[in-house]
Amino acid sequence: MVFEELTARLNDAGYKNWVKAGHCLRTLQEGLRPYTDSEMRSFHRDVLKQDPLLRQSCRGSCSLKGDQVSSLCRECLGWQRVILHHHRCPEVKVNWENCSPQAWRLEHWELAKAFMPRGLLRVKGAEQCDASALLNLINFCTRFHSVETRAVREVIQCRNELMHSCELRVDEAWMRRYQRALGRLLQQLGHVAALAEAGRQIKEILTADWSICVTGLPHLQGFVEPDSGSRWETNTESISRWEAELLQERLQELLHDDGAQGAEQLPRLKDLLRANRDLEERFCAELQALSAREAAGAVG
Ligand SMILES: [Zn+2]
Repeated sequence: MVFEELTARLNDAGYKNWVKAGHCLRTLQEGLRPYTDSEMRSFHRDVLKQDPLLRQSCRGSCSLKGDQVSSLCRECLGWQRVILHHHRCPEVKVNWENCSPQAWRLEHWELAKAFMPRGLLRVKGAEQCDASALLNLINFCTRFHSVETRAVREVIQCRNELMHSCELRVDEAWMRRYQRALGRLLQQLGHVAALAEAGRQIKEILTADWSICVTGLPHLQGFVEPDSGSRWETNTESISRWEAELLQERLQELLHDDGAQGAEQLPRLKDLLRANRDLEERFCAELQALSAREAAGAVG
């Protein structure tokens, strides 16, 4: 039985919540991508219109490393002023190392990255950004002045708690807080089609009773209704896919970043993969890479 192990995992209400909440976040991300992309495109256009200096190309080959911003040419300094002017928290939070100054004039997303968490130098567009990056953009860039920052920050906080949950579990009280936070944010963005759709899907995910999978196990007697049977199959396949996407994302973050951010989650994640044959097979390559990295770390 293919989904037997998944079914057993979903019997753990805390883990089921964790997967649901993670899938909601990915759904939000899908809605935020076209919205932030189109807003930043307009923002970039507006900024260019207002100042002729900004329409001139970079005179040197300006680049930024860390906080070194003194070596910019006049044109790039103009862009830097624009960023500081439109940043809600310029004294602490501008991640200049995300940016290639020469591209500020040409690429709206190069401008957007100044408002995002660090580590995004090679990112080229909204479709490569996760929910956290996009929420930070909305939080810090005054372009999004119509969105209440408290609502954005609540969702960012929930996202951090979820992604760093050592146990890969969240309880019902946490889910209610998360649902309220998502609701408050999405209410303000309801006029954006992609986010109205995301809101509808999120509501569906949060109200769906995934325990249908549990009752649907064929070896449980008295269940076999053809209708529910096929519905169970569809649901289970989707849930299995969502779970895999979420676990994949966590593993990639732990493998490719310095690992510090979510490191506390690693032991539980490895236990989970090793204790479940289906996951162990699916994530065999990632498990090997993690072991190799640990071995290297132990030596170094
Ligand atoms: Zn320059």
